[in-house]
Amino acid sequence: MKDTIAALWGLQKLDLEIIEFDKRLGELPCKKQILLEKIREIEEQGKKKKEELISIEDEKNKLEKEIEEEANKIKTVESRLGFIRNPKEYQEVRKKVELAKKANKLREDEVLKKMEQIEAINRELETLIPKIEEETKKIYENLKIYEEEELKLKDDRDILLSRREVYISKIPDDIYKKYETIRAKSRGIGVSQAKNESCEGCFMNLPPQLYNLILKGDNLYNCPYCQRFLVYIPEPEEETQEE
Ligand SMILES: [Zn+2]
Repeated sequence: MKDTIAALWGLQKLDLEIIEFDKRLGELPCKKQILLEKIREIEEQGKKKKEELISIEDEKNKLEKEIEEEANKIKTVESRLGFIRNPKEYQEVRKKVELAKKANKLREDEVLKKMEQIEAINRELETLIPKIEEETKKIYENLKIYEEEELKLKDDRDILLSRREVYISKIPDDIYKKYETIRAKSRGIGVSQAKNESCEGCFMNLPPQLYNLILKGDNLYNCPYCQRFLVYIPEPEEETQEE
């Protein structure tokens, strides 16, 4: 029975370790997601700037096309001016030409403005792109650390699981099943230490008779309050000497 008790306690300690591993493993996808989201946000900045640039370039090209078309129209109208005999009509056409020229001048000013904007955005991109590359590189490095951590945790967890099998093989089937049932209901803890005449699982005082039986270690007992298996473990110094 002493072997069963020792194996049961070993299994409980191992299962607590596995719970801790599961907790850390469970946190990693969320941590990775946050980093991926950050990368997406940073890259979005660059994408937006580039889109802004393309949109301004489109506007500039559109204006230049308009200027060219208008200039051609003006040229055609101007070439006909000499043939107009009616002075009133002549004046009207001339006025129209002047207005069209003015409108084209405004378009040219607009084009200059767009060129300045394009230049400014290109200058911004010159610093922004390397910054984005550097920042995303750093984040990808952190992501890699998480991925490596995840692999390491999974490997270590597998080792714990194989050690678990060794403990289980030393525990009678009915006791192991009961342990799992209690554990499922009691936040992963199926075995508690009996210490200072109380149960370390629920902190209730144990009947002295029961406590003495547990100290003897000839049989397995359950806490009358939380139902967990109770084991007596000697003080840590003795425990390490034994190991
Ligand atoms: Zn208890």
